Amino acid sequence: MNFNDIVGQDRAIQILKNVIIFDKVSQSYIFSGNDGIGKKLLAKIFAKALNCPNFSKDFENCECMSCRKIDKDIHPDITIFNTDKATIQLDDIKSMQDIFKYKNHEAKYRVLIVDGANKFTLEASNAFLKTLEEPPLGTIIILISNNLEKILKTIKSRCQIIEFKNLSPDEKFLVIEKNYDYSKELIEKALFVSNESINDAIKFLAEKNNEEVLKKFDFFLEAFQSKKLDLALEQELESISSAKQKDLFSKMLDYLINIHSKNSLKNQKALILLKRAKKYFNQNVNPKLIWSWLFLGNMLEK
Ligand SMILES: [Zn+2]
Repeated sequence: MNFNDIVGQDRAIQILKNVIIFDKVSQSYIFSGNDGIGKKLLAKIFAKALNCPNFSKDFENCECMSCRKIDKDIHPDITIFNTDKATIQLDDIKSMQDIFKYKNHEAKYRVLIVDGANKFTLEASNAFLKTLEEPPLGTIIILISNNLEKILKTIKSRCQIIEFKNLSPDEKFLVIEKNYDYSKELIEKALFVSNESINDAIKFLAEKNNEEVLKKFDFFLEAFQSKKLDLALEQELESISSAKQKDLFSKMLDYLINIHSKNSLKNQKALILLKRAKKYFNQNVNPKLIWSWLFLGNMLEK
């Protein structure tokens, strides 16, 4: 894992390399930008570059002890805080601050990477502010955020903000192709059904039945394009019998609704039809009944 593994963020990379080359390392950074565009990965590579005795402007793969430990996530002075919770609370901040009670084990720079800094509660923000105001010596803090607006001004003012740029569709494709072993066709389709969100596409690709979903998806897309969506829905609903088929159909409805809601396929009638079907589906209405309900609801104009 090195700077070359990051796609489309040349400007951010250059800034970070320069701060090391010119010895202008700040104590705290905010890496800001959309999800799935390389912020956390670059934070880790930055931590490597900061601590590597072999660092140079052409820094690439290095096999020194420090780089190897960071690659394996076992470096005692590099901490990455992640959470699936909706908020980051005071207790979380306290556990981060505990790290700073002791001196660095071995690194020149101890690095704390906090993913989801936009999720700090007010209480957590204020507690974290104290750390930013008096950062422990030899410590670099990197806050990762997909929404700068949600970070307190007082926190922002104490950090150097590095903006990550949005990736083009081609760059998104490249990110997944570089890091995962999927066919080109599958990656393209995964990005399409995920409405060009890299993280959602990666999640989709990791699902076991993605090929099956895609087959169904193609079927519905074609039905939509030939204005036969109602017939396709009828046919599908008639054939659903197992829980697995139900799950697949529900997922497929989500993808279709997502695409119809946001991108060029926008079609109000189809969208209403799909949303209605999804609603009935969530209410556990018998699939065979859903069709007649849709029909009775006069959702279909021929
Ligand atoms: Zn190294």
